Amino acid sequence: MNKTLDLETLASLCKRRGFIFQSSELYGGINGFWDYGPLGCELKRNIKDAWWKAVVRTREDVVGLEASIIMHPAIWKASGHADGFADPMVDCKDCRKRFRADQLCEEQGVELIKTEATFALPDGVQCPACGSKNLTPPRSFNLMFKTFVGPVEDETNVAWLRPETAQAIFAQFSNIVATARQKVPFGVAQMGKSFRNEINPRNYTFRSREFEQMELEFFIRPDEAVELICGHVTQLDDKPDLMGPPQASWGWNVWLHYWIEQRLTWYRAIGLPEADLEQYWQVGDELAHYARACVDIEYAFPFGVQELEGIAARADFDLTQHQTHSGKHMDIFDETLKQAAAKLDDPAREAFTRKVVTDWTRQGKSEEDARAFVAKLFDGKYIPHVIEPSAGTDRLALALLSNAYDEETFTDHKGKTDTRTVMRFHPSIAPIKLGVFPLVKNKPELYGKARDIFAQLQRRWNCFWDESGAIGRRYRRMDEAGTPWCVTVDFQTLDDDTVTLRERDNMQQVRLSLSDLVDKLDAEIG
Ligand code: ATP
Repeated sequence: MNKTLDLETLASLCKRRGFIFQSSELYGGINGFWDYGPLGCELKRNIKDAWWKAVVRTREDVVGLEASIIMHPAIWKASGHADGFADPMVDCKDCRKRFRADQLCEEQGVELIKTEATFALPDGVQCPACGSKNLTPPRSFNLMFKTFVGPVEDETNVAWLRPETAQAIFAQFSNIVATARQKVPFGVAQMGKSFRNEINPRNYTFRSREFEQMELEFFIRPDEAVELICGHVTQLDDKPDLMGPPQASWGWNVWLHYWIEQRLTWYRAIGLPEADLEQYWQVGDELAHYARACVDIEYAFPFGVQELEGIAARADFDLTQHQTHSGKHMDIFDETLKQAAAKLDDPAREAFTRKVVTDWTRQGKSEEDARAFVAKLFDGKYIPHVIEPSAGTDRLALALLSNAYDEETFTDHKGKTDTRTVMRFHPSIAPIKLGVFPLVKNKPELYGKARDIFAQLQRRWNCFWDESGAIGRRYRRMDEAGTPWCVTVDFQTLDDDTVTLRERDNMQQVRLSLSDLVDKLDAEIG
């Protein structure tokens, strides 16, 4: 972590260099909305491409989806968002500022009082802005943005901007199963905009009202189906190889840990140091009632260790909800399961049924439901369970920006002390990969050669042409943009096709041929 970095310093560099601007700044800005400038949009595009490549393109068991942002409102009823996606809000009656009650309590080291349907503030909580204790009782505030579809603004035309991308994956589950030629276990990934009318947007882009998510729903067999097929269910105690290929015998908890490892490995590969990544396992009533486990992957931001991604084991909650609300079945047929069940004789079936009934009733579920579930399993049918790694693109961009920022004091070749601001992005996510400079601009032959080299490299990577000012100043500008390498085309290039390559991190310069340069970039960008 960049321990000395404060958000103002980072935000000022981001504005000055064109990473992030306040949305609608011309008209005084709009709280909770941000624009990504020329460098910022390249950074975000690289993050999304890297995620898509890791989660979809390089796997055979994940496919993609790009759904609409506005969907049938019944989807949000089924998912629980229409009734339950709310935060408790309090207002200060003196200074009129508004806060999230849970955050207020957390910051002041007290517990928000939760009853069945309402919240209350414990004694002593005060307004962080003016110190007044004259606060309203907490009221529930639904975070979904409301709009109307078509010209008539009445209740029958209400629709919502999606507060997460994941829900469309469940709503399109049957179409995907019918077309994707995938069998459980397999996943569906989606990334795109989500909207939450956050009560208190803060910490720069960390909590915004419009943001992007990168979400995966990875569908797995219920453990009971795994047991029928494999005769046992691999648990963590069996020490499965989480970095190797997934195994048919894995239970849900092994899959959860597999995805945690996959995601942490990816964060490290794009440059977040292991020491700045933490896991927070939700406990007690932090955990949604249907979730079996949920872990937050957290990053040490300049304002504290905070959530970057949530990875949840959601059992069959979402598909079951859509089955109930739509009246359309969400079972899938699993031929391997059907064949495994067909091999069991009657006593073995009875023993298996008894075991499931005992397990389920111990968890407070009904015997009738357990028996119906087992009967379906014997027919090869079940509603898949799901592991959901859900990441925020903007939060990751902020983490990468914070991690990259460095102010370095060094001694130059003349023995003079100098300082530079340098964004040390991993090459794979750096907005610009290479700066290309002609040593001088008034020698047509050299200039033309440099333009040719630039055009050639630009076909592969995002390169930046800079012909103005001393070479040292050009390097400094590229350091602030986080460009890992710069090449200078000089007179020698005309003779032997070599260029001077300057490394951002150690400021060393080496002479190498154009083809060696291409090989180096290929290897280091990945
Ligand atoms: P938080 O507790 O911080 O409000 P959450 O637990 O509600 O987040 P999820 O619903 O799990 O978040 O969303 C998944 C991911 O989407 C988060 O880990 C985060 O990266 C991102 N995200 C959620 N809300 C926002 C927001 N308001 N601004 C930016 N990113 C967000």
